[in-house]
Amino acid sequence: KTFSYEFTGPQWKGKTEFKTGNFINGEFVPGGSGKFIEYVIAQISEGNAADVDLAVDAAQKAYDTVWGLKTPGFARGKLLIRLAELIEENVDELASLEALDNGKTFAAARNFDVVEAAACLRYYAGWADKIHGKVIETSEEKFGYTRHEPIGVVGQIIPWNFPFLMLAWKLGPALACGNTIVLKPSEFTSLTALRVCTLISAAGFPPGVINIVLGYGQTVGAAISEHMKIEKVAFTGSTAVGRTIMKAAAGSNLKKVTLELGGKSPNVVFNDADVDQAVKWAAHGIYFNHGQTCCAGSRIYVQSGIYDSFIEKFTAHVKTLSTLVGDPFHPSTFQGPQVSQIQYDRIMHYIESGKSQGATLHLGGERHGTEGYFIQPTVFTDVEPHMKIVQEEIFGPVGVIAKFEDEEDVVRQANDTMYGLAAAVFSRDVGRAISVAHRLQAGTVWVNCVNMLNSQIPFGGFKQSGIGRELGEYALANYTNVKAVHVNI
Ligand code: NAD
Repeated sequence: KTFSYEFTGPQWKGKTEFKTGNFINGEFVPGGSGKFIEYVIAQISEGNAADVDLAVDAAQKAYDTVWGLKTPGFARGKLLIRLAELIEENVDELASLEALDNGKTFAAARNFDVVEAAACLRYYAGWADKIHGKVIETSEEKFGYTRHEPIGVVGQIIPWNFPFLMLAWKLGPALACGNTIVLKPSEFTSLTALRVCTLISAAGFPPGVINIVLGYGQTVGAAISEHMKIEKVAFTGSTAVGRTIMKAAAGSNLKKVTLELGGKSPNVVFNDADVDQAVKWAAHGIYFNHGQTCCAGSRIYVQSGIYDSFIEKFTAHVKTLSTLVGDPFHPSTFQGPQVSQIQYDRIMHYIESGKSQGATLHLGGERHGTEGYFIQPTVFTDVEPHMKIVQEEIFGPVGVIAKFEDEEDVVRQANDTMYGLAAAVFSRDVGRAISVAHRLQAGTVWVNCVNMLNSQIPFGGFKQSGIGRELGEYALANYTNVKAVHVNI
């Protein structure tokens, strides 16, 4: 099938048109099930386990013949740069498509998701010819050296909240290291992954290096994680599915697993913080991308001396955001609809649970407007540690604010979670901010800011938020096998 859509502005006018189907060995082919996943705006092929087999065969052949160690690093890097350039040349179309598919605002998709995706590919293009081992001399006659070899065919499974950016975070390091890929986008948001396939071909990647299989997690995702010829699976998504994937890997060929999972990130605001700045950052922390962000600062801890004034200022600020909920394509929109009915229902369920468990609904808590999956930015206060809205990842625009007395108290409360993805600390006392940053159990800690992500800096979770790191030099370890060669002169 061909997907075609005319964007009429106001931010970009133009037509997007591309083939759909699984992208295997450089061609679009119909899904083996013969069925389709129905979107409001599109039908996409529903793949199955047989499609994963085809994709793995294509990826293996490409690995053995034209990729892996057959292509020098600088040549792999050149292709990654060309792909980044093509993404940048088509930034408005890709951002429009991402907003249409996911519901995020065009502005965020344009200025964050797509731009950062291209930056990530450029960053790993730079690494492609710098992946090498060490020489280790053990005596006058003996030495060893290490090789960082690609793993081979890798499986990648990504979520719907940043469909295009997660694709780039996965492709960049895996390709730079010389692996070939079988990737499954989320069944809710597959359109930008399909559009990028034509750019992958145009950039000159040999057929079979990147293969995309569409479909559901229980079928295509499971087939990837159980596949005997896939030596590595990299997953971004919920902690529950991460657990399933790890079991599947253990029960099949013991493939290597990298997991980027959920979070319930604390934002800690001390009495001496710049409160106006902390309010803006904390609101960005929880409401950016409609709260559908793995590192969302969904628990805000405020020291008792500024608790009341913080809540007053935070509420006033969030009220201004609440008027900016609406059409993702309108230039002033801050928050579009949640991604799906399932997510909408889930978030509303959490809001009800907050009310029934005795938290104070301070602001929002209702559907915005009369149709669609729009939810008002929501604030709960008077929360207790045991409440579901304090413990569980809501993945929506719902923030909870709690009070703390001193450093010990807040470190204990902030770390009282099974998650450990991110955290933030706001204080003018740099020494204290850094000391608390070191005590928080999180893979990323922001000081006097939130949601800063950069291709150069690793990202990933402590505790049940994940295994391994994406981004930066650290992500290369996900996609290489280290071989030691001993030599006796
Ligand atoms: P999800 O876990 O439901 O799905 C993620 C992907 O896994 C989808 O492609 C889905 O089809 C697939 N999947 C589902 N069941 C599967 C199975 N049994 N076997 C194999 N694959 C399966 O997550 P979601 O709802 O798409 O995304 C939201 C979650 O992702 C949140 O928990 C969020 O915190 C997390 N997330 C984490 C990061 C990070 O970097 N840590 C980034 C983005 C999202």
